[in-house]
Parts: sequence; C-alpha cells; structure tokens
Amino acid sequence: MTSEHSERPSVSVVDRIAEIAKGRTPFSVEFFPPRDEAGEAQLWRAARAFEPMGPAFVSVTYGAGGTTRDRTARIVGELASTTSLLPVAHLTAVGHSVDELRGLIDSFAAVGVRNLLALRGDPQGGVRQEWVKHPEGLEYAVELVELIGAAGDFHVGVASFPEGHPRAVDLDADTANLVAKLRAGAEYSISQMFFDVDDYLRLRDRVCAADPEQGAKPLIPGLMPITSLRSVRRMVELMDSEIPATVLDRLTRAAGDGPEEDRDAVRREGIALATEMGQRLIDEGAPSLHFCTLNFARATSEVLANLGMIEQASPAPSIRR
Ligand SMILES: Cc1cc2nc3c(=O)[nH]c(=O)nc-3n(C[C@H](O)[C@H](O)[C@H](O)COP(=O)(O)OP(=O)(O)OC[C@H]3O[C@@H](n4cnc5c(N)ncnc54)[C@H](O)[C@@H]3O)c2cc1C
Repeated sequence: MTSEHSERPSVSVVDRIAEIAKGRTPFSVEFFPPRDEAGEAQLWRAARAFEPMGPAFVSVTYGAGGTTRDRTARIVGELASTTSLLPVAHLTAVGHSVDELRGLIDSFAAVGVRNLLALRGDPQGGVRQEWVKHPEGLEYAVELVELIGAAGDFHVGVASFPEGHPRAVDLDADTANLVAKLRAGAEYSISQMFFDVDDYLRLRDRVCAADPEQGAKPLIPGLMPITSLRSVRRMVELMDSEIPATVLDRLTRAAGDGPEEDRDAVRREGIALATEMGQRLIDEGAPSLHFCTLNFARATSEVLANLGMIEQASPAPSIRR
C-alpha cells in the first residue's frame, strides 16, 4: 500500500480544483474522526456515497487529543489507499513538540497523504480557554506551514475566518495573518463555516487588497447544511461564534413552538439556506464549495443536487441526515 502510493505523483488540492472547474463548480467535503466503530462505519458510508459525486478532496479533522488523533492518520491513509478520493489531513500544533509534528508529517507521507491543512488548533480545554504553547512546540499556524514546507513534497492549506478569528485583535490583523500564512507557502485556505456571504466576500476583498498575489490563491468557503437547530447551536458555540439573527429567525420559525423542534421543517430550511448561500457564492466566483458534513452524505448531496452540481442526491435510504 505504502510503496504503491508513495510512487503516485502528488496531486494537489489546487490542481484538482482547477481541473474540475473546467466542467463545473468543484466541491469538497469534511469528515471528523469518529469515536467508535459505529461512527466509523457511518463515515465510510458517507465516503462511499460521495465518491461517485467526484469531490475535489475530502478533509479529515484532527482532534484535541488521544485516539481520535490516531484515527485521523489511519482514516486518511485508508482513504488514500482504498478510494479514488483525494484526502487532506488536518494537522494542529496543539500539544505537540516540533519533533512530534515532524514525525506526524512523515507518517502522513508514509500512507500516501501529501495534502495537509496546517492549523494552530484550539486550546485543549476548549475554544474559550487560554492558548498554551507546547514548551517545545509552535505558537502560530504560520510556523507549521513553514515546518511542513521544509519537510518536502507537501501541499499545504490553512484556515481563514470570514468573521475574523475570535482571538484576533481586529479584522485587519487577522487578514494580515492569513496573508502571512499564504506567503509562507500555503496554496489555499478553507474558511470557517459562516452564514453571511458578505463576510466571505469582504474577507476576499481584504486579502486581495493586502496582497493581490496571495489574493489570487483559492479562498474556499466553508458551508454546513443545517439539519437540526440543536446541533448548529452546539457547532457555533464550539466556534465561539453566533448565528446571524436573520438565519436564526428562519430556523426557529421552521422549528415551531412545540416542545420538540420540527426537525423535518428545520432540515428543509437548513438545506434551502445552504443552497441559497452556495448559489450566491458560485455567482460571486468562489473557487469551490467546502461542506462540513458531520460524516453524513444526504444533506450535502441534496444541496449539491439543488445547485446542479450533481445529478441527484445520495439515495442512502438509511442515512437520515
Ligand atoms: C477550515 C478549518 C478547519 C479546522 N480544523 C480543525 C481541526 O481539524 N482541529 C482543530 O483542533 N481545530 C480546527 N480548526 C479550528 C482552528 O484550529 C482554530 O480556530 C484555531 O484557534 C485557529 O487556528 P489557525 O490555524 O487559524 O491559527 P493561527 O493562524 O495561528 O491564528 C490563531 C490566532 O492568532 C492570531 N495570530 C496569528 N499570528 C499572530 C501574530 N504573529 N501575532 C499575534 N497574533 C497572531 C490570529 O489572528 C488568530 O487570532 C479549524 C478551523 C477551520 C477554519
């Protein structure tokens, strides 16, 4: 497995996007490393459902610690060896010394994974805790971009924040940081998920104004089709963000005033919202759309079908979300 894939030419996210864009707007999907076997089976069902839809790449997040971290490496390796999907491994600086990070970068290469998303990661105790650098580790994601660049033949992406990173001094400082990560060798960025397309467009304008050369690199918008009010509330809490009032209004109206939210109605509204955002982003020239899937294929594939990016939504009858 290893030798077969280490001999493969290393395809980059940017090349894959450019190739697909000749025919249609590209899209990509994000998975998280599941905690148990049932969760892992679900991830593989989603991966198999997406495979024939031709995503540009599939990214797998990197957990805060322990076994889910090992799962990221194993899952991206298996995606590389058993599917036609292009895997991207997220890698964070949290809790790692530079030596450990070098070892991890090598281990991704050993399983045929050459596309990495370089991130600082959130503090181990949660997004609102103080960031504490590992004594022999890195302070900022830009240093991880440099470390990966020095490690050899890798293609690196970074995170971007349409609403600004919650810890940033201001939007200009945050934009300067994104530009620094791109100048350090990142080939593209994937944005934090957002609900106001204008925030994305303003970020793109700021990056282009700050450095036109870096502004030409793909700024891939992150979207999440909402399937439940409860889960999206939890998600924005993890991001230390907020749902805009107009979006919340639409969702709460759909949820109704019963003791339980009307999940079908919320789901319909969530998919309509993601479709509207996706269409506007395509009209505004976004290079590709990146979907946070929570390891389910159905909702994302419905949005893709609505946008005419695939022929029909994933049938996957047993997969509700
Ligand atoms: C697409 C995407 C995927 C993600 N995947 C994961 C994942 O898999 N696992 C995970 O744990 N987290 C993930 N995250 C969350 C991310 O790790 C956190 O949001 C983290 O707090 C910031 O990471 P970063 O790479 O942007 O950090 P950085 O770019 O290092 O920025 C961190 C903060 O420091 C500021 N800053 C940077 N440089 C300087 C400087 N020189 N001086 C002063 N301030 C500076 C920035 O403005 C920002 O506020 C993801 C985020 C996104 C958008």
